[in-house]
Amino acid sequence: MPNKIDFGNGSIDFNIETILIKKNNPEVKKLAQFYIQLFQNPNIQIQEVDKLEFTQKNSIILGINERRDAPDRYKIQVTPYGIMVEASQVKGLFHALQSLTQLVKLNPENKAGSIRIPTVIIEDEPRFSYRGMHLDVARHFFSVDVIKQYIDLLALYKFNNFHWHLTDDQGWRIEIKKYPELTNVGATRSNTLIGHYTDRPVKYDNKEVSGYYTQEQIKEVVEYAKDRFINIIPEIEMPGHASAALAAYPYLGCTWGPYKVANTWGVFEDVLCTKDTTLNFMKDVLNEVVDLFPGKYIHIGGDECPKARWKTCINCQRNKRRFNLADEDQLQSYFIKEIEKHLYRKGKKLIGWDEILEGGLAPNATVMSWRGETGGVEAASQNHDVIMTPGSHCYFDHYQSKNPREALAIGGYTPISKVYAYEPIPANLDPKFSKFILGAQANLWTEYIEDEKKLFYMAFPRAIALSEVLWSRKEDKNYAGFLERLQFHLPWLKTQKINLTNAYAELDYTLSKSGDDMVLHFVKAPIKGKVLVEFKHNANNFTQEYPKGDSLILSNSLDLKAWYQLQDNSLCKPIHIIYNKHKAAGASIQFIEKPSPKYFSNENSIINGIAAPTNKYSGPEWLGMEGKNFEAIIDLSKSDTIDQIKFQLYNFPAAWIYPAKEIIVEASTDNLNYEVVGSWKLSPFTQERYIEPIVDLKKNKSYRYLKIKVINHGKIAEGSPGAGHTAWLFLGEITVD
Ligand SMILES: [Zn+2]
Repeated sequence: MPNKIDFGNGSIDFNIETILIKKNNPEVKKLAQFYIQLFQNPNIQIQEVDKLEFTQKNSIILGINERRDAPDRYKIQVTPYGIMVEASQVKGLFHALQSLTQLVKLNPENKAGSIRIPTVIIEDEPRFSYRGMHLDVARHFFSVDVIKQYIDLLALYKFNNFHWHLTDDQGWRIEIKKYPELTNVGATRSNTLIGHYTDRPVKYDNKEVSGYYTQEQIKEVVEYAKDRFINIIPEIEMPGHASAALAAYPYLGCTWGPYKVANTWGVFEDVLCTKDTTLNFMKDVLNEVVDLFPGKYIHIGGDECPKARWKTCINCQRNKRRFNLADEDQLQSYFIKEIEKHLYRKGKKLIGWDEILEGGLAPNATVMSWRGETGGVEAASQNHDVIMTPGSHCYFDHYQSKNPREALAIGGYTPISKVYAYEPIPANLDPKFSKFILGAQANLWTEYIEDEKKLFYMAFPRAIALSEVLWSRKEDKNYAGFLERLQFHLPWLKTQKINLTNAYAELDYTLSKSGDDMVLHFVKAPIKGKVLVEFKHNANNFTQEYPKGDSLILSNSLDLKAWYQLQDNSLCKPIHIIYNKHKAAGASIQFIEKPSPKYFSNENSIINGIAAPTNKYSGPEWLGMEGKNFEAIIDLSKSDTIDQIKFQLYNFPAAWIYPAKEIIVEASTDNLNYEVVGSWKLSPFTQERYIEPIVDLKKNKSYRYLKIKVINHGKIAEGSPGAGHTAWLFLGEITVD
């Protein structure tokens, strides 16, 4: 969405023959040549003139007005005589040509040469100076061709920084001439984990993964990006995420190994030692990196560095004493500051993930805030530049659909609506520091992105939403308008062989209580289309368009699937709802202990007739109690006989979720006098991730009130994940029959 756009009457047909530029302006000439190439029309001529004016029809004028205050600003005027493009600097002209490219290419009738464009005046400039996209090539390797295609798309959507994550535990992907083993050994891993890293049993494939970029290829990509006004920020991870470097040169570690290039995901205990030998090695590496990348920033990672090895390392402990450091956090800070001094001497600025704040920030460092906004707020408040990349809105390795058949991702849920809603200036940042927020960036970690098809599927169209967040004015934000504009981009992206999701239009639902019944409401994206519903009746399925309204009173058990059908008749993935009208479905509930707000969607979720999914603990149907028992009273509104009560528990120690020890059910007819009517105890041998306890009640007695007590696992024992903390208790539907 440009800052200002005024449409005239109708459109004009052009057959561009000339591009007019001023004499002796090699940069503009290069840009014009680039644009001709983009249009694949060799018949367009460049004319260098003294004065820029329309002397003939069918021409584009490219003019520079040398205004220093707004380097990205541009103006496009489409007139009956031709197209006039004006900008402060060449990069503004480039942005203008990208806008023009969108105007031309998104109209499917336009072919090379003859084009139809609406008469229009556009005046535009970006809101943020840093507009970034990241790509991890360590977890999975992507060829130079794929990188170039990625850069092309970033340019089209006016991103100006590409953060190239070149090294990690699972691979070293950049040739370093002084240390050839980094790629001889570190660029190859023998096999890779299959499925999600929390899956049990753990499985591996038999495929060797190998690949790195030679320095010649790096130069080629840097040049390619420069032509598209994109700066590349290389990332060389240190001192953590360094298994590949350690495998190549074991003396860099605290224990001398042996180490191997990682074939699974996560955070590894073996990290770079802080000794001088290792620091000097990394400085040598950075010397070659600095020579390859002309931009001012070098990213050194700095995240997720466990300190266990340092605590028992003679060299690291000696450094602690030598520099009078209080703890291992300060030791990490020492390491980063040494690297920063080195980069500073080379005329470069250091960027690190927000962990570099721990133990004290290096004096000129720029911080990428990924663990929420806190790190960004803290760094900006210390007058440091910040790039916002919070996991909640900017991690494009998260799911973009809730559909259970969506291709495997690391987790999370970051739909395009959430990306579009993102505001890079944190609400709790003192406005006097907001100038330190340079912009934002989306990160594409590739543990679960094994090829380019999935890469573009995860990146687009979410990157387009981020592009508007970063470029357009805040007051122009309008999600419905964005989705409408998006409809012009998607068909064109498909012609570029990009595999796209229509998850942005998938249906969602909410449930509310109405009398003794639950009511289902379909939640639709603000885009034209219709809801299709299929009810399952025994074996006979039938499809029907949803008749009226967006709500459905659930007076009986039912099994339905619902789709959103877009105007081009394409269907989004369905939602599947199985509603079980049990005796407590739609009843009232009063919580004696409050659930954790992080895992609590609404009061009724636990008795709404919809079971929680048995394969994951996220989503609105699960309720989480942090270290507490679950305790609540269910009011069935009238006395009724009850045979049994069924529960859902989750058991996932890796996330500190442990099953309940015990369940006690008390019942009453008057909410005053309760008697214990049933209980359940956990078998100490339970290994299953999902547990369904059943409590049988004494038959033939009627009750109106049920007091349910689910006892938390309590303090986690030594040797188990989360030892010393109190456990999470996750509870799904309580089914009363
Ligand atoms: Zn050490």
